[in-house]
Amino acid sequence: MVIVMKHQASAEDIGKLVAHIEALGFKAHLSSGAERTIIGVIGDERGLEPENFALFDGVERAMRVLHPFKLASRDYHPDDTIIHINGVAVGGKNIPIIAGPCSIESREQLFEAARAVQAAGAKLLRAGAYKPRTSPYSFQGLGLKGLELLKEARDAYGLPTVTEVISPNDVTLVAQYADVLQIGARNMQNFALLNAVGETQKPVLLKRGMMSTIEELIMAAEYILAHGNARVMLCERGIRTYETATRNTFDVNAIPVLKQLTHLPVIADPSHGTGHWNLVTPIARSAIAAGADGLIVEVHPDPTQAFSDGGQSLKPEKFAQLVAQARKIAQALERTI
Ligand code: PEP
Ligand code: MN
Repeated sequence: MVIVMKHQASAEDIGKLVAHIEALGFKAHLSSGAERTIIGVIGDERGLEPENFALFDGVERAMRVLHPFKLASRDYHPDDTIIHINGVAVGGKNIPIIAGPCSIESREQLFEAARAVQAAGAKLLRAGAYKPRTSPYSFQGLGLKGLELLKEARDAYGLPTVTEVISPNDVTLVAQYADVLQIGARNMQNFALLNAVGETQKPVLLKRGMMSTIEELIMAAEYILAHGNARVMLCERGIRTYETATRNTFDVNAIPVLKQLTHLPVIADPSHGTGHWNLVTPIARSAIAAGADGLIVEVHPDPTQAFSDGGQSLKPEKFAQLVAQARKIAQALERTI
């Protein structure tokens, strides 16, 4: 519930109302602007009637502000959540970069990508073993063999790993091999999958569905949180619009909106967000400027040979330039990369 005071409301009016709210067992959260004071009533507000508050002196109006999400909400958890992934913190002052190929293709390809992204400053390695492809005829990933290679690369380079899980049946297996479970855009509302990752304690990178609103993304996160896993990162990866110049339209608005509505770390994916390698670095810069807590970037040793998403994959030297530029923007905002 939010109570908007009249601009001529006195300190006594406000004090009486706060005492009343507290006597009912709620917390009163005051926001004193230049024009007027707004009081947030924090607690389980079922049973509270806005019109009863409107009867107090100095009140202009009282209204319910009920987001459908609770555990993901900043009202519930005002401080930023920081997720620790084997020594890498996500959600704090430092902005880790996750990088690697779209798909795991071979030991040579994965190890070369891991070596290059680590040398350029990436803190986590991404690579898909199970690929949710639009066409059933496209490369579907190496599956278990890919997970084994990913674990080898993780141990060889000391980089925690992010990989996608596409079926509830695979969650336990993928969790044995990887440090972060990615839920891809196409599965954002696969509720059985959300519940299954919610029952693990593994960090989850939850990607926004390409046709999903910000609220739907947060509600998907709410499933994971409600099943007992508090370690959720939200990922903006572009949405489908009428624009055809890019693969998706990267929604930079989503970054500050998610930061305002939720306490969860927000990761930006400029690779899927644009679909073109030469747009990845500019959009990565914009995401850091907008307040992203991390980036996930596709990097391939030789994008011309990639089994998936070659057109949006950076060559290692271009990725190193991205990191250097992103670092300067982070510094301007008193953050680090
Ligand atoms: C990916 O990360 O390679 C991927 C398939 O992403 P998205 O689910 O965002 O399309
Ligand atoms: Mn991809």
